[in-house]
Amino acid sequence: MYHCGPTVYQRPHIGNYRAFLFADLLRRVFELADLDVTQIMNLTDVGHLVDDAEEGDDKLEAQARKEKLDPWQIVEKVSEQFFADMEALGVKPAHAYPRATDHIEEMVAMVEKLIESKHAYRVGDNVYFDVHSFPAYGQLSGNRIEDLEAGARLEVNDEKKHPADFALWKSDEHHLMKWDTVFGPHGFPGWHIECSAMARKFLGDHFDIHTGGEDNVFPHHECEIAQSESVLGGPFVNLWMHTKFLQVDGGKMGKSLGNAYTLDDLEERGFSALDFRFLMMRGSYRNSLNFTWEALKGAAEARRNLNDFRSRLLGEANAEVVVDLNTIAAGSAVAKARAAFRNALADDLNTSESLAALFVLRNSYVHAVLKASEYPAALALLAEADSVFGFFDTMEAGGLSDQDIDQLIKERGEARADKDFARADAIRDELSAANITLEDTPEGVKWFRS
Ligand code: AMP
Ligand code: ZN
Repeated sequence: MYHCGPTVYQRPHIGNYRAFLFADLLRRVFELADLDVTQIMNLTDVGHLVDDAEEGDDKLEAQARKEKLDPWQIVEKVSEQFFADMEALGVKPAHAYPRATDHIEEMVAMVEKLIESKHAYRVGDNVYFDVHSFPAYGQLSGNRIEDLEAGARLEVNDEKKHPADFALWKSDEHHLMKWDTVFGPHGFPGWHIECSAMARKFLGDHFDIHTGGEDNVFPHHECEIAQSESVLGGPFVNLWMHTKFLQVDGGKMGKSLGNAYTLDDLEERGFSALDFRFLMMRGSYRNSLNFTWEALKGAAEARRNLNDFRSRLLGEANAEVVVDLNTIAAGSAVAKARAAFRNALADDLNTSESLAALFVLRNSYVHAVLKASEYPAALALLAEADSVFGFFDTMEAGGLSDQDIDQLIKERGEARADKDFARADAIRDELSAANITLEDTPEGVKWFRS
């Protein structure tokens, strides 16, 4: 799979992360199905213009001027923020994160091929793709070349043969990031050719899935198809998948609107990256999702409930029992929950229904319908679910592992038996400081994380 990654000019906002979490979800679902996944996500560090439709400043250079920094410094800074955010979000690292600026050679080679095969033409040191040379142009997005041309701003660029043609290579001596190539001394690539070249290098001529956010459908992916298929003379990608936008207050999220939140903005209000991850799992990639603080709060609570359910099971289940989920009794509560969890995922990644299956299981525990003998299987199912959703807290509360907690509880029991109540109370306080609550029940001490 190839995923259009961030343009590293500003720390990605939570909308961008919706698209990247979708890519992570796909990978995890495929891995659950025992498929071998190779996952590539690029970093766009040059050539993405402020206006997707060909004109305007390079986003990186505009930002560099604003911050009075070198564009390469911006790339370093933002890439670091991006990787830290991805880790906080529990995203499995892709197999490679190629940068556009490391693949100029591959892009130039592809552009040269397009010129040779008359799909592209040079005007001075600029190179354009001739959309009329590719009959399927417009198929992905449902655009017609005639309509695009009728709506095009002709005055913007009269170099092109047709207004809908797009730039493969641009020349500008004032551009800060530029390369001396066969096309001239001051050139840089168009954004679309970057992804065509990097995808080909890492995944070969023909691969399975290419993703992006809905705004990538046109022009970015439409142009990728035109370039790649023209070079390859055959199919490029089997399946295109696009995440609908994360919106704010029912509208667009934008830096200029002041509502393009980062993970730090969420943290300031007391929400973790995993709360956000959980919120994203509640929606379907096919629908836009409206971000509200209320919804995030609901997601955080629901996540806490599932975490708490898991902690209680961990505290109560016999950890020695190893469960093979494939062999549990078909009619059991866990088997039913597992079938519902998996069937929902198989149904076009219906994550919200899949999550609902876990809550059904939790309810059966809360209402004491779930038998204690089923706890180990329930835990195994939660682990399987977490391999897809990845929202359970991995950091143990207060730095105490489950084993530490069990040990402390055992020591507390011994202290009480020895009538050393001061020691017993001290252990209870230590656990309480780590947000572990103890419940003395007739069956012994139960604990959970709060
Ligand atoms: P960019 O950094 O602009 O290149 O965008 C990186 C990825 O985020 C692209 O795949 C975009 O389609 C996607 N994206 C941008 N804004 C949103 C949003 N509000 N919701 C979901 N995906 C988005
Ligand atoms: Zn791309």
